[in-house]
Amino acid sequence: MDTKAFKRTLQHSENYNRKGFGHQAEVATQLQSEYQSNLIQKIRDRNYVWEQGEVTIRLAQAFGFCWGVERAVAIAYETRQHFPTERIWITNEIIHNPSVNQRIQEMNVKFIPVVAGKKDFSVVATNDVVILPAFGASVQEMQILHDKGCKIVDTTCPWVSKVWNTVEKHKKVNYTSIIHGKYKHEETVATSSFAGKHLIVLNLQEAEYVTNYILHGGDRQEFLHKFAKACSLGFDPDQDLVRVGIANQTTMLKGETEQIGKLFERTMMQKYGTIEFNQHFQSFNTICDATQERQDAMLELVQHNLDLMVVIGGFNSSNTTQLQQIAFERSIPSYHIDSVERIQSAKSIEHRQLNGELAIAENWLPNGKIVVGITSGASTPDKVVEDVIEKILALKATALVLE
Ligand code: SF4
Repeated sequence: MDTKAFKRTLQHSENYNRKGFGHQAEVATQLQSEYQSNLIQKIRDRNYVWEQGEVTIRLAQAFGFCWGVERAVAIAYETRQHFPTERIWITNEIIHNPSVNQRIQEMNVKFIPVVAGKKDFSVVATNDVVILPAFGASVQEMQILHDKGCKIVDTTCPWVSKVWNTVEKHKKVNYTSIIHGKYKHEETVATSSFAGKHLIVLNLQEAEYVTNYILHGGDRQEFLHKFAKACSLGFDPDQDLVRVGIANQTTMLKGETEQIGKLFERTMMQKYGTIEFNQHFQSFNTICDATQERQDAMLELVQHNLDLMVVIGGFNSSNTTQLQQIAFERSIPSYHIDSVERIQSAKSIEHRQLNGELAIAENWLPNGKIVVGITSGASTPDKVVEDVIEKILALKATALVLE
């Protein structure tokens, strides 16, 4: 499919909108009251540090809602205002945050149902309104909705669209896109749909497996088995790794994406030499600024003496997991939670481990004076961060009275 031509057709259609409907001022007040926090503003004003009783809170200097998420949520609110009576659908969670998704559903915006693991678009009728979330939708989904004559409101973050343009450039010159990402993540599913030949690598280890194969060959069957769910149809490692370009899911660890890019660059240089190298490798910077800023702020935060970290964000949020990984690698006790309800008491907290499983940690809040580092993923409203900080302060204040 000529995805570029399709996008052009879609963008010129009168049923397509990606700029909102001019109700910014009305929804701004609503968003402010639902998602902003006075406490967080005060902490920002005090250089990101808050001391109360035995607790020092240290906030990361960049955290929470990124502009792409803010923009997507605002457009979704505007859509409801603009179409007060129409049926409105959304192809996926607008962003990875349970409280925001709940709020969107309360506004009577429905998720496309999933039947036997597949989205059932038969529920959508001509003239229904369909919102595409911040991390986009696959080109096939867009085509189904366009063919049905729906009104499409596209909140895809421009940073994500930039990655789509990159893989389309690879496709045009018949390069294979090596995508650093998670093959199941909605953004990577969408990006792959715009790519031609592609291979998705999760981390440096997988990238090394691929570059070894490029340099020394290997077990073809093992390769195909390993990447069975993470490559384009008919992918052939012996034919399709001759010319490669690099792309990424925008929320992966920045340092890892860069290492993977460099690894492929070195590999192609080694295999083809300096003269032919340019015919075998392409790289564009597609790491999103917001992801980069949040990771840099986390790297700065973990330099301080912290007794523990709380990382707040949806459990399916990739960028939150990356922040948690930074704390984990420095052996700081760190708890990834998605809402204040996970804090059961000063003795017990339910949290998501890096392997994705939930666990209960006992005695997570130490006695005496403590320094708590706090950060949150790009889909987390300040209100949720405020709730967590207030809960920690309250639990420690109660413990002090009881001592
Ligand atoms: S994290 Fe980056 S790419 Fe993702 S929505 Fe935010 S600004 Fe856009």
